[in-house]
Amino acid sequence: MIKESTRAQENALESIVVAAGDYLLKKVKKGQSVRILDLEGNQAADTLFYKADDISERYSAMDTIREQGNVYLTAGSVLMSNLNNPMLEIVADTCGRHDTLGGACATESNTVRYSLEKRCMHACRDSWMLALAEHENIGLSKRDITHNINFFMNVPITPEGGLTFEDGISAAGKYVEMTALMDVYILLSNCPQLNNPCNGYNPTPVEVLIWNA
Ligand SMILES: [Zn+2]
Repeated sequence: MIKESTRAQENALESIVVAAGDYLLKKVKKGQSVRILDLEGNQAADTLFYKADDISERYSAMDTIREQGNVYLTAGSVLMSNLNNPMLEIVADTCGRHDTLGGACATESNTVRYSLEKRCMHACRDSWMLALAEHENIGLSKRDITHNINFFMNVPITPEGGLTFEDGISAAGKYVEMTALMDVYILLSNCPQLNNPCNGYNPTPVEVLIWNA
């Protein structure tokens, strides 16, 4: 569902450009809103959320899908935790649909899907692991890297229930915006994938903007 935001970019508390292939790990407080802006278009932002004061509680794709009765995420979707608590709500969306089924790219999946020599190519899981290592104080470990959201990624379900990777439906200037319903860490990998159309074979930067309540 296309829904424009009422927030003006110039009133944002903070704005961070995340380069292609880079990550962002940041605390967002309850009541704050966070926008992910696709600056150049067709860019996937692979994202995880954790409850800030208890990182064992985190975003859960299956709880979110079951509670809303739909596999796609858009404005109105409430992102649920593994304890079935609402973590964030998508309050605006000019892209219209986001994936939470496809999972993130990894060197292992690149090897299986494409070829052995893709093993050394940069993948989202590497960016997340780097984020964890560079923020040891938060206490996240490899076992906390679970199912995620692929913002802006187009993974349509076939009538037979199959998953397909399709060319993106996002474009330059499209965004998705969420309001935090609890204090959360956002862990975003700006996807470096070059082997499928999720980034249009050309990874580009995204901008993350945060507003106070
Ligand atoms: Zn990726």
